[in-house]
Amino acid sequence: MTHPPALEVQQVHVTLGGTPVLRGVTLSVPRGELVALIGPNGSGKTTLLRAILGLQSIDSGQIRIFGAPVSVSSLSRVGYVPQKLELDRGFGLSVREFLALSLPETRHWLWQSHRKIDLALASSLDGLGVMPLLNRPVSRLSGGQLQRVLIAWSLLRKPELLLLDEPTAGVDTPGERSFYEMIESVHRRHKMTIILVSHDLSMVFRHAHWVFALNGVVCCQGTPEDIVRNDSLKQAYGLHLTPYHHHHTGEISHVH
Ligand code: ADP
Repeated sequence: MTHPPALEVQQVHVTLGGTPVLRGVTLSVPRGELVALIGPNGSGKTTLLRAILGLQSIDSGQIRIFGAPVSVSSLSRVGYVPQKLELDRGFGLSVREFLALSLPETRHWLWQSHRKIDLALASSLDGLGVMPLLNRPVSRLSGGQLQRVLIAWSLLRKPELLLLDEPTAGVDTPGERSFYEMIESVHRRHKMTIILVSHDLSMVFRHAHWVFALNGVVCCQGTPEDIVRNDSLKQAYGLHLTPYHHHHTGEISHVH
């Protein structure tokens, strides 16, 4: 039997305050892919994410996660990294304490040695550059450091599908490149399905295997190369992109 896709969205409609925000969104994300969901501001990206996470009810249509409807049980296989976290300067936890509190097995270990906690956290933190930050107060991290900590945090529960909302929103430009490289390495290492939600096209194109362009509906989808060649999409975004060489492993190779 073939496995159902990691995510299937079929004809999803959502109206907010009288405005039809999602107007029949249909998309399917195969297991193990690293895909991007792009769209200008107001195109419904956040609304769709919220619907997938069970935070926004839908008027009609269907969302299935690994073949199952959105529920506590299917959502236990999904990790979510928020765009940003507004933290008060007074938020007193160190990175180690923040992460340890999120894991049932380390939650009660805070009075124990750091070594024991760090060992328990190590497999999720590997390659994220978070280990050197463990003693730092969460409230004093830079945007990029906080994003890394939030990704580590989302990995603690070993999700099979990871949703990353505008992952570089709080990251400075020099940090962006290494940030996407880190996401690719998380993807390889944990063999998970990743959906990057972004309005920032150029970086996403370099790293995603497949791109869905949203504008109330999925107006276009394809490989990054296909998408940059799509004139109507270029116009919609005012894009000036040049094709580049991309090493993708996806098997799908057509534009709808
Ligand atoms: P994106 O994440 O792509 O920027 P959103 O999903 O946040 O898009 O929003 C899509 C549209 O829905 C926007 O035009 C926004 O103004 C509208 N919208 C979002 N939330 C509400 C709401 N609670 N009531 C009315 N309109 C909303």
